[in-house]
Amino acid sequence: MKSTSIGRQAVVVGAGMGGLPAARAVADFFERVLVLERDTLPLDASHRIGIPQGRHTHALLAGGLRALGDLFPGFEQDLVDAGAVPLEAGRDLRFERPGYDPFPRRDLGLGVCAMSRPLIESTVRQRVNRYDNIVIRERCRVQDLVASPDGGTVTAVRFENSEGRSETLSADLIVEASGRGYLVNGVLESLGRPRPEETTIGVDITYATAIFTIPDDAPSDWKAVLTFDAPEKGGAVAVLAPLERNRWIVTLIGRHDEKPPGDRDGFLAYAQGLRTPTIYSAIRKAEQLGEIVRFGFPASFRRHFDRLEAFPRGLLPFGDSICRFNPAYGQGMSVAAQEARLLHEVLQRHAVEPEPLAGLAPAFFAEAATLIETPWAMAAVPDLAHPKTEGQRPEDLDQALEFTEGLFRLASQDAAVHKLLGEVLHLLKPQSVLRDPDLVERVEAMAAQA
Ligand SMILES: Cc1cc2nc3c(=O)[nH]c(=O)nc-3n(C[C@H](O)[C@H](O)[C@H](O)COP(=O)(O)OP(=O)(O)OC[C@H]3O[C@@H](n4cnc5c(N)ncnc54)[C@H](O)[C@@H]3O)c2cc1C
Repeated sequence: MKSTSIGRQAVVVGAGMGGLPAARAVADFFERVLVLERDTLPLDASHRIGIPQGRHTHALLAGGLRALGDLFPGFEQDLVDAGAVPLEAGRDLRFERPGYDPFPRRDLGLGVCAMSRPLIESTVRQRVNRYDNIVIRERCRVQDLVASPDGGTVTAVRFENSEGRSETLSADLIVEASGRGYLVNGVLESLGRPRPEETTIGVDITYATAIFTIPDDAPSDWKAVLTFDAPEKGGAVAVLAPLERNRWIVTLIGRHDEKPPGDRDGFLAYAQGLRTPTIYSAIRKAEQLGEIVRFGFPASFRRHFDRLEAFPRGLLPFGDSICRFNPAYGQGMSVAAQEARLLHEVLQRHAVEPEPLAGLAPAFFAEAATLIETPWAMAAVPDLAHPKTEGQRPEDLDQALEFTEGLFRLASQDAAVHKLLGEVLHLLKPQSVLRDPDLVERVEAMAAQA
């Protein structure tokens, strides 16, 4: 990746799976990059308070792995060296959805790695730490963003440092990767500027996760399992995936009143009630490690920064601060990594302009919106199919659902279509490739046979 200087200092708020790749992306264009993180960061792959979701299954899609590899060459090997389990997603994952138990397994060229969220984050952190011009400051909680008197530019961050003192740091660019975007909303409000429009989908899901030692007699014909229920039957999802150090992570996901329990007996009973016996049979006698943890996720949201007429210069919301996906589809980290790769490309293009930061935010927002379109749509259609989901249903939802069913049916029979569908689900290709007229005709014919 070629580098050109744009400014003296960039600040990234948050050392999560958005902030760390973003810091690497901007490091080629700023003399110094400071990452401010409120947590104490572990030296190893341990959990930390600021990432409560990190105790739950965190799948990294092939598109996310590739983006991280572009930012940090050799990244996949780093993960494997750290203990991640390599998988071929088409072959090693037993995918169970109504009508297909399992869906045909084929080598789709979708190489991924399975590991815990702390392992992937610590691997990224180690790569970021190799950059001389990136400094991560721990125990620094950013309180607000400071704007110029005319409100046109965000110029500094105010934060409480590790000694509890207030500090203000000026920056040419501030990337807000706090995971919530409240600092961006705060500064827009203080400047009397409009907030971006927000699309929300009230999915109201509950996660329960347990970790097990992989038993000696574990099935050898799969490495991971994903079980989907029909939306009209509650839409439960369950996933079992390998983790570093010979463990399985099992996450049960229920919607609305279906809340997977946090005690062992209840957890096992819930697993036993899944549509197929695969996961329950695998874990019922397995040794459980630690407590079962739960997490409530009320709604996915997407903030349309691209629709704002104006936005302060020097500020970029990033990762979950722009779009928080329903985690059941395993997209958030991968999209954040792809946004970081995109940010590098946009900075590269703008670096040659007389005022590189002037049009940066609108350009980034427009391209990030395109990038987000596919993962958002892939999750929104099945989510909105559930009768209790809250959100604006598109007029063609029934058609979209029929198309999805026809597409899966065709993919089950045709290896090339299966591969294409896998590439879209893994964010390697946009969903527009599924709109190819010949393919649409075949899918519709398949849907009509139902
Ligand atoms: C239950 C659950 C399961 C998920 N499963 C998956 C999955 O399978 N695959 C996947 O790709 N994604 C998954 N996700 C989504 C994924 O966790 C996020 O998309 C991803 O972490 C987004 O990165 P981020 O940097 O925007 O936010 P985060 O990774 O949440 O990082 C935000 C960081 O900012 C810090 N911070 C916050 N406020 C401040 C402040 N004021 N000052 C300084 N630091 C601050 C936090 O401590 C944290 O380190 C899941 C999410 C949930 C809730």
